[in-house]
Amino acid sequence: MTTPSGRRPYNFSAGPAAMPEAVLQRAAAEMLDWQGSGMSVMEMSHRGKEFGAICAQAEADFRALLAVPEHFHILFMQGGGLGENAIVPMNLSRGNKADFVITGSWSAKSQKEAQRYCQSNIAASNADNQHTQIPAPSTWQVSDDASYVHLCSNETIHGVEFQALPDLAALGSKAPLVIDFSSHVASRPVDWTRVGLAFGGAQKNLGPAGLTLVIVRDDLLGHALDICPSAFNYRIVADNKSMYNTPPTWGIYIAGLTFQWLRQQTEGALTGVAAMEQRNAAKARLLYDFIDASPFYENRVAHDCRSRMNVPFFLKNESRNEAFLAGAREAGLLQLKGHKSVGGMRASIYNAMPFEGVQALVDYMREFERSHA
Ligand code: PMP
Repeated sequence: MTTPSGRRPYNFSAGPAAMPEAVLQRAAAEMLDWQGSGMSVMEMSHRGKEFGAICAQAEADFRALLAVPEHFHILFMQGGGLGENAIVPMNLSRGNKADFVITGSWSAKSQKEAQRYCQSNIAASNADNQHTQIPAPSTWQVSDDASYVHLCSNETIHGVEFQALPDLAALGSKAPLVIDFSSHVASRPVDWTRVGLAFGGAQKNLGPAGLTLVIVRDDLLGHALDICPSAFNYRIVADNKSMYNTPPTWGIYIAGLTFQWLRQQTEGALTGVAAMEQRNAAKARLLYDFIDASPFYENRVAHDCRSRMNVPFFLKNESRNEAFLAGAREAGLLQLKGHKSVGGMRASIYNAMPFEGVQALVDYMREFERSHA
């Protein structure tokens, strides 16, 4: 499918999501014969020298891209974000207590799952404002004896994003911070001085579904509960350089191509993630400014925590939703329907979405408003 202008449609899916076209083209070109090896990456042994090189390069590129310090391990795993909701408490809780900051569906799910492995304390929640504000860290009720504090740094469904990570020590907590950065990984820098562990599925900003990234500080390894499967024990995965069991080789390869693409991106004098951050901020500003200025559309999230990646919005007259979506599809603007728990629309504008894609969405929204207001 191409649009009347001949381009591929712009895809606003929340995940699995649009990929950089250059990455898809490179993967297509290398599909049958990776760099003269005579094999597709899918056909290679994970223990062979070819895949070993692909994996080592992907890890090095991710480390460089996000300036991951040497005392953090980069693990390529399976199980997804929901898998990590169990894997994290099995590895970090020591069966004690963990604190949770609830800012939307994903952090709520994490807290619920962790209760199967440890006690949980809800340190803060924005449920009473329908997940539209982030409670100020100074109001969080952190425990003295928590093994870790969990938050979701970008809530994909509710469109709520931490613009800075909290300084837990300043709140009186000695616990490491765990962040679920599934839906904004590599869209902005990470302050690793504030993080003990970060996890995320690849299928939004990095590559295909099936690959889960875990970035974990060295001192947090080695405390897994006995019930923890060996393949999910961070110590074992780290000691085996993500090759204890067969890792998701295709996902690692594609994510590696994406890391290379990200490292090459520039905005003025900025490169890599700094360039992406600037581009993502400009994309988000374009869309939010348009929505805020329009009497026809609305976004209900507080301005200081609006997500740059996932923009939920509503037509004030919801009887026009189907017409809006049908017209969008015709204009080559795909997968804009909101999550069923929130309704309305959602535009996910991850790294792979160019500024022109957001401009095309805004142009369509303006024209739809003009013809339906
Ligand atoms: N956390 C966040 C922030 C997510 O957006 C998602 C998926 N949309 C998940 C966790 C769950 O990930 P998975 O489906 O890979 O288990």
